[in-house]
Amino acid sequence: MRLLLVGPPGAGKGTQAQFLAAHYSIPHISTGDIFRANLKAGTELGNQAKAFMDRGELVPDSVTNDMVKDRLTHGDVKNGFLLDGYPRNVVQAQVLREFLTANQTPLQAALELSIAANEIIKRLSSRRTCRTCGAPSEAGATNCSSCNGTDLYQREDDKEEVIARRLEVYEEQTAPIIAFYRSEGILLTIPAVGTVSEITEQAITALSRLA
Ligand code: ADP
Ligand code: ZN
Repeated sequence: MRLLLVGPPGAGKGTQAQFLAAHYSIPHISTGDIFRANLKAGTELGNQAKAFMDRGELVPDSVTNDMVKDRLTHGDVKNGFLLDGYPRNVVQAQVLREFLTANQTPLQAALELSIAANEIIKRLSSRRTCRTCGAPSEAGATNCSSCNGTDLYQREDDKEEVIARRLEVYEEQTAPIIAFYRSEGILLTIPAVGTVSEITEQAITALSRLA
């Protein structure tokens, strides 16, 4: 299965990505997680990304596209992959399409998680992130919902000032890729409401109807 998730910040892409990647036995490739891992490790890539991430802006395409293309040449993508957080604008979507077409591994689905704007702000400002594995948890949680680790923190960009900018960037730059994938005929949309496992079920059902 070769697919990607699209939806506003707070739609639950990261959470669903973990379950779907496990279900289909494919790697979960999150550009946000890769950037954060590089930040933590203090790499050149991390330093390049930091200022953009802290402001809720997109990291420049030149940096992001090369990073994803490199990741998609690793051996673990032979059964497919799940992209989370990429592409985030139409140029990235075009670069990805070109790359995958050249490799004869076109995308099979773009799964949109749709959610109302007021719900997003509520979710993001109360979200905590696991420093060990990157999984999100609810505010007030003492342990990571994924690895049970206890080092939970609030992402710099989950603070209220930055959330507003991320939502703007999403509307202006990322939402147009939904029309792009609709016109490619591979868009699937599910509502991102309900319990985590209900949403996973819906996603798997929608994906199972693919030709
Ligand atoms: P979100 O919870 O908003 O989906 P992510 O963890 O996916 O957040 O991304 C966090 C930040 O990393 C973004 O706000 C952006 O600065 C940067 N980033 C992640 N993916 C991309 C991308 N495809 N293009 C440019 N910047 C990106
Ligand atoms: Zn964890």
